[in-house]
Amino acid sequence: MARRFAAPKLLVATHNRGKAEEIRAMLSPFGVEIVSMADLGLPAPPETGTTFESNATIKALAATRASKLPALADDSGLAVRALGGQPGVYTADWEGPTRDAMVGMQRIQAEFAKRAVPDTDDDRRATFHCVLALAWPDEHVELVHGTLDGRIVWPPRGSGGHGYDPCFQPIGDRRTNAEMSTAEKNAISHRGRAFAKLVEACFR
Ligand code: IMP
Repeated sequence: MARRFAAPKLLVATHNRGKAEEIRAMLSPFGVEIVSMADLGLPAPPETGTTFESNATIKALAATRASKLPALADDSGLAVRALGGQPGVYTADWEGPTRDAMVGMQRIQAEFAKRAVPDTDDDRRATFHCVLALAWPDEHVELVHGTLDGRIVWPPRGSGGHGYDPCFQPIGDRRTNAEMSTAEKNAISHRGRAFAKLVEACFR
C-alpha cells in the first residue's frame, strides 16, 4: 500500500522551469501549497544514478533532507530505439553545457545520419520516460513511472512544451508535443501518466 500524502506543503525538486510548470498545473486541484527549489535557494544534487528511478530518488531525498519538507522529484528523458536507448538518463547532458534542447535534437539527428537511419516511422521510434519520486522527511519514498511512445521528426515543429518536444511526435498524432496545448500534452505525456499513477496511489 502506498503512503498517502497529507501534508499542507510540497517542495517540487526541479530547476527545470518547463517541468516545474507542468507539475504545478497537475498538482493545482489538490490544494497543496507548492514551493520550488528556487524559492528556497536550494542547489541541485549531482545526478550520479544510471536509471531514471535512482536519479529521481537522489533528487527527492536531497531536497527533503535540505528543506525538511516532503519533496517531489522528476527524472525523465528520451530513449531512441535506433540509438540503443540513448540518450536515456543522459538526455539533459546531450543538450550541452548551456542546456539548449536544440543542441540535443541536432545530436540525435547527427547520430541518425552517422548510422544512416532511414526516415521511416519504425526506424525513428522513441519513448519518453518519466519517473516521479515522492520523498517524506523520514526518507520514505514512493516511485511511479510513465511513458509516451512516438517517433523523432525532423525538422523540429512547434513552440509549446519544452526540451525535445518539437522533434517528438506521439504515435497516433500528426502533431509534435510542441504543437499541442499544455493541457493536451499533459493528458497523454509520460509525466501526465506518471502523475495519474501518483495521484491514484498517494493523493486520493
Ligand atoms: P533531467 O532533468 O535529468 O530529468 O533531464 C530531463 C531531460 O529530458 C531534459 O533534457 C529535458 O529537456 C528532457 N525532457 C524531459 N521531459 C521532457 C518533455 O516533457 N518534453 C521534452 N523534453 C523533455
